[in-house]
Amino acid sequence: MALAEEFTAEERAEQERMVLDSVDRFLERDVAPYAHDLEAEDTYPQEIVDKMVDMGLFGATIGVEYGGLGLSASTYAKIVERVSAVWMSVSGIFNSHLIMAATVERAGTEEQKAKWLPRFASGELRGGIALTEPDAGTDLQGIRTRADKSGNGYVLNGAKTWISNAVEGGVLAILAKTDPEAEPRHKGMSLFLVEKSKEFKVDKRMKKLGYKGIDSGEFIMDDLFVPGENLVGGGEGRGLQQILGGLELGRINVAARGVGIARACLLKSVEYAQIRKTFGKPICEHQSIQIKLADMAVQVETARLLTEQAARAYDKGERCDMEAGMAKLVASEAALSNSLEAMRIHGAYGYSKEFDIERYYRDAPLLAIGEGTNELQKLIIAKQVIARNPA
Ligand SMILES: Cc1cc2nc3c(=O)[nH]c(=O)nc-3n(C[C@H](O)[C@H](O)[C@H](O)COP(=O)(O)OP(=O)(O)OC[C@H]3O[C@@H](n4cnc5c(N)ncnc54)[C@H](O)[C@@H]3O)c2cc1C
Repeated sequence: MALAEEFTAEERAEQERMVLDSVDRFLERDVAPYAHDLEAEDTYPQEIVDKMVDMGLFGATIGVEYGGLGLSASTYAKIVERVSAVWMSVSGIFNSHLIMAATVERAGTEEQKAKWLPRFASGELRGGIALTEPDAGTDLQGIRTRADKSGNGYVLNGAKTWISNAVEGGVLAILAKTDPEAEPRHKGMSLFLVEKSKEFKVDKRMKKLGYKGIDSGEFIMDDLFVPGENLVGGGEGRGLQQILGGLELGRINVAARGVGIARACLLKSVEYAQIRKTFGKPICEHQSIQIKLADMAVQVETARLLTEQAARAYDKGERCDMEAGMAKLVASEAALSNSLEAMRIHGAYGYSKEFDIERYYRDAPLLAIGEGTNELQKLIIAKQVIARNPA
């Protein structure tokens, strides 16, 4: 399912349809029947991952010249929405991998792109981004991991936590301080690609409310040697900017996950409300249920439109931190409120482990935390609103 860049708009639309059809078939055949049990057991979905490798999903947004599918962020967001409507954890396995890849594609040297991107695109080497530490999440400039020059490379010391794909993945983009005294602090931060090895293993998995199946790892680096050629972009002091560029795509994909969950909750509720009867009629004929369904539908469409707008801006190469932040904020809140409303509509069945609603309800809160909390998104939006409208 490759999309070449030289295709016309019409051909690209046709190919997008083919890609989405193939994702729909994969979800129906290979994910939906197994999601409930794998989630309940908190099992890493290796067979699903193998299928995603075959489909080329680990190269979804990577350029065709590196063996990726070269999909636009707009098409990618539609894939993420569909996957998350079935099981959000599956999208997490390729989402943070693709943030790492987007960072290398935008900020890496030509040698780094040639070396890493084909392996990322084929799915042979999969991974994620390691930014968060036990004492620093939102305030990334407060990280303590240090990278000190040593011979022809660096030694890393510090700890990272809550890192998606850290246990099962083979490589991580690790944010570290190369100059802890630098002012402003971001000028002392650098990004390193670190492959797993016998010196670098991650075993510890965090226990979570939801987002099961995918591993969230924690690890300590104790004089971990990294070759100098793995410093992204080849120069120190640009790591924070580099990863923030990748996080624009990350926020679009979190927004798309929100749309997926919000939509799934709406559709399951619409169906259930027509089947479940109380007081002699389907509950969808009670006005209070109709109002809930209407509110949920509005949430889905608002979230979807903002997500599409952010993805279009990203595809045009425009600055889109505000657009991605708005989409992420609105779509994650839509997922949260629609999952709660779906539970109310389903009554006790919504609370049951037999059905999917309680899973959406447990998965949704992550969207308000990951890729920058929703409180942080408001700060980013406010900053841009002021900057774009000078008095
Ligand atoms: C399941 C899961 C997967 C994750 N995957 C990854 C991953 O792959 N890689 C990675 O690096 N990280 C990952 N994270 C970490 C995630 O990015 C952080 O949890 C997130 O950035 C928030 O940081 P924190 O938890 O340290 O909260 P804190 O930064 O301690 O924030 C606590 C609260 O204070 C608020 N707050 C903080 N500063 C301000 C401010 N200036 N103004 C207003 N409010 C503020 C926050 O919004 C929040 O409500 C993951 C987390 C989870 C739960």
